[in-house]
Amino acid sequence: MTARPWIPGERYASRAPEPHAPPDAPVVGVLALQGDVLEHLRALRRCGAHAVQVRNVDHLAGVDGLVLPGGESTTIGKLLTRFGLMEPLRERVRAGMPTFGTCAGMILLSAQLDQTEQQPLIGGLDVLTRRNAYGRQVDSFDTRLRVAGLEGGPLDVSFIRAPRVERVLSDEVEVLAEIDGHPVVVRQGDVLASAFHAEVTGDDRLHREFVDRVRATRAG
Ligand code: GLN
Repeated sequence: MTARPWIPGERYASRAPEPHAPPDAPVVGVLALQGDVLEHLRALRRCGAHAVQVRNVDHLAGVDGLVLPGGESTTIGKLLTRFGLMEPLRERVRAGMPTFGTCAGMILLSAQLDQTEQQPLIGGLDVLTRRNAYGRQVDSFDTRLRVAGLEGGPLDVSFIRAPRVERVLSDEVEVLAEIDGHPVVVRQGDVLASAFHAEVTGDDRLHREFVDRVRATRAG
């Protein structure tokens, strides 16, 4: 009998049933230092992934792809540095591990930020990003957004103190969605990022596409 891998914190999760991943499911990590980790784990499981929390280098070594959740990018960046995860993570991203950043995750994947005070970044996306581009917490909003390549109409998304891309710095960056001329979903190679949260709306299409990409990359 093979034991199910240990998922840190899982017993605190709601008892709502989530499908068990088939044995050949891709292992998709969610960086679990701060932010909306549980929502991503659930969305990934609904999409057929074996979703696990990543808190250290051993966890990171065991995943085929990684989600960087929303939260507070300054806090996540500091914790990445403190826990010795920043360099290993940069290496994995450079080596082509499929990575999906939402909101704070998008900020962390950006090459540069539109602010004078700097903060630790992972990089991987050649974009200049502006934090809190839509205002404060009270200015957060839900919307439906057309995302290139996603079938089934506009995606239900939630912008929560969200960033946006101010400038694309390389023609390797594909813009998959924008609002008022500002990119809010971008892709560069195997790095995907959205300014919004899709994991809180139950509209899993972007997660599903990501999981499919992880599966395809793993299959070589
Ligand atoms: N405003 C946050 C930041 O700058 C991001 C918000 C979010 O992830 N929902 O990191």
